[in-house]
This record gives sequence, C-alpha cells and structure tokens, in this order.
Amino acid sequence: MNKPLILVVEDDSSVRNLISTTLKTNDYRYLVAVTGEAAIMEASSHNPDIILLDLGLPDMDGVQVIKKIRTWSNLPIIVISARSEDSDKIQALDEGADDYLTKPFSVEELLARLRVTQRRLSYMTSEMLTASSVFVNGKLTIDYAGGCASMDGQELHLTPIEYKLLCLLSKNVGKVLTHTYITQNIWGRSWENDVASLRVFMATLRKKLEAAPDSPQYIQTHIGVGYRMMKVE
Ligand code: CA
Repeated sequence: MNKPLILVVEDDSSVRNLISTTLKTNDYRYLVAVTGEAAIMEASSHNPDIILLDLGLPDMDGVQVIKKIRTWSNLPIIVISARSEDSDKIQALDEGADDYLTKPFSVEELLARLRVTQRRLSYMTSEMLTASSVFVNGKLTIDYAGGCASMDGQELHLTPIEYKLLCLLSKNVGKVLTHTYITQNIWGRSWENDVASLRVFMATLRKKLEAAPDSPQYIQTHIGVGYRMMKVE
C-alpha cells in the first residue's frame, strides 16, 4: 500500500511544524494548507486519505470547510480544536467530521487518532468490496438482515432501542457520533431528556456487550461529546 497522504490544515506554524515532523518521521506523506480556502482546493485537487483540520482558521471557520468538502467527499476529517472551542468541536462532528484532537495534544495522541482512522478506512473498503449484510468486529457479530446480534457465538438479548443503537454505532465504526446525531437517529429529535435516556440505554447495552463494562472494549465514551464503536482486532 502507498504511504497515506495527509492534508494538514493549520494556521499556527508551531502546531503545523509539530504535525508535519511527526508525519514525516512516521512514514506518512503530507500536504499543508494555512487557510480554509487553500484546504478546500488541496482536498479537491490531491484527494488526500485523511484531513487534519484546525477549526480556527484565518479566513473561515473550519466547520465551513467540512460542509464544503462533505458536498463531494466522505474522506475522513479529524478536527483540531482548542479546549475553549468545545461547542465548535461538537458542531464539526455533527457536520461530518470523524474524530477530534484537543490542543495541546501529544505526538502519541496524534498517531493514535491516525491509526484509528486508517483502520476504519481499510474496514470500510473491505466492507464495500464484500457488500456484506453481516457485521463482524472482534467477537461481536450483527446480522443486519436477520435483525440479531451475538457475542462470541452467544445471541445477545437486546431491546429494540439497544439493537438500533448497536447498529448505528457499528455502521459508523471508528467514528465519534455526537449525542445529537445519535438521538436524532434513534428518536428523530434531540431533547435534553433524550440525551439522558441515551445514557441509560448505553449503560444497559454495554452490560450486555462488554466483558468488563468499566473498561469497555467496544464502545468508547467521549464525555460531553458522544460515543464511538472501536474497531476491535
Ligand atoms: Ca488556528
């Protein structure tokens, strides 16, 4: 496989240098853009494998960049935000970003996020090739056509909402889904109560799914943001 090509969109030169040095020493190819406009242009002309996108850009909001790119491409976008931009981060995920990094972040964190995204990418590609209606992740199997799920060969007894939740997370494996995105998909709305019930359903689903619900292997919690199903080897 070719070295993955990463588009780095960041106007802060020290962060940009940290990222590009990390990419170079870890066998990635990269391109850089300093403005939102340049990012959109580079994304359309070079078709990168992953975009690392700062949300605070000099010419436009990073969320606008995501909206624009999502009109023609589903390529993975990892947003980079400062802690003070938490609501922007959630908006970015709602607009179709795949994951996020919060500044300041370590080199290890950056590389870990890239690996998660690459695993998701290769999984999506193999899924598309087989067009299978059965989802397999570690010991978890979901038979979408049959409407049932099993863990290590044992059928999981899930309520309709738990099953819907599990399907939604599995169809977006590797991607962080926001509370709003999930409640919109499950209940068709997103009221404060729905987020509270989501937490309850997620807890019961996890009890059935995870061998050790306190250190979950399949479903990650992103406090104040949402949930993600991890690709389990
Ligand atoms: Ca910035």
